Amino acid sequence: MIIPKEPKLSVEQLSAVTAIVEEYDCKLQAIVGHHRSVYAVLGEERKTVMVNRILGLDFIDRFDAVDSPFKLMDINSELAHHKIVLGNNIVGEGPFVIAGHCTIDPKNPNLFIESAHAVKEAGAKAIRGGVWKPRTMPYSFQGDDASVKILMEARSQTGLPVDTEVMDEHQLRIAVEAGVDILQVGARNALNYSLLKSIGQMTQNKKIAVLLKRSMGMGPLNEFIAAAEYIAAAGNPDIMLCPRGTNPTMDGYRNYPDESITPLLKEKTWAPVIVDPCHSVGRAKYVPSAALAAIAYGADGVIIESHLDPQRGIGDDPKQSIKPAVLKQLVTDIEAIWAIKNRTVFAGN
Ligand code: PEP
Ligand code: MN
Repeated sequence: MIIPKEPKLSVEQLSAVTAIVEEYDCKLQAIVGHHRSVYAVLGEERKTVMVNRILGLDFIDRFDAVDSPFKLMDINSELAHHKIVLGNNIVGEGPFVIAGHCTIDPKNPNLFIESAHAVKEAGAKAIRGGVWKPRTMPYSFQGDDASVKILMEARSQTGLPVDTEVMDEHQLRIAVEAGVDILQVGARNALNYSLLKSIGQMTQNKKIAVLLKRSMGMGPLNEFIAAAEYIAAAGNPDIMLCPRGTNPTMDGYRNYPDESITPLLKEKTWAPVIVDPCHSVGRAKYVPSAALAAIAYGADGVIIESHLDPQRGIGDDPKQSIKPAVLKQLVTDIEAIWAIKNRTVFAGN
């Protein structure tokens, strides 16, 4: 990682550094932060001659080689203090709750908008709404491009950032052009490396964050962090990691709850962790406990399916959406657990 003396490299300085790293078969990736930019060297960054030539440039302050496969996502990388700003919030400075429908019903836009207002009132900091859905059966409702408009209407009415899942480049392009704030990579695509690269490239410097779900089959944590590294290496480090339960399932739950991996992730990466208790337990009545457990484990927030009238919902809403009134109590309880968790006795453990 190259750290310039000034907050960022000028165009001439950037091309001088790029020319050097390319001579050594590496690529330079600018990581634009809020206060300063740093430059990752992707490839074998420890070549002594290359490092010395870069250090010899009078506008370079430091060259830190990261001794980790995760040059960008590692807890010891230069991005360790990187902050993700969404709406009026910095993720991690208070519990970040994303809530809303699993799926937007394009035939009933008002219901989504009303739920969006209700989850805001309940304390959500961002709104989720599935425009496109990965469905087990090809005959089930697959989503609708037209729902992007409904999602963006909820954004303009509530003033909150919005989140939706994209599964391919067509959806990605529509979502980016519409101005969606958080792109969700679903469990089924968490290992779709070409999609991860496209997302990183297309969201670079656009202040769009990525919520990367853990795939159902992901075992080693490094596989999860490596998936995030793909997005960061392609240009966008605004990534939140989202445990959402794995397989095989726990009898009675939809998946095997995995909020307990939060502290393990946090030892390895600086990325915020936003847990999804709804897909993990899969039943509305278990969601609040799982969400509180996630916060107790140190998660930076949760993503919750919440719907004013779950029985009128489509997708997962009838089984695992909680009503905004339940969400409101949950947000209060989350704040209480957050306060306990952040007391020095816990924070310093
Ligand atoms: C969802 O968030 O509605 C969803 C489909 O999640 P996952 O990718 O975790 O199954
Ligand atoms: Mn869902």
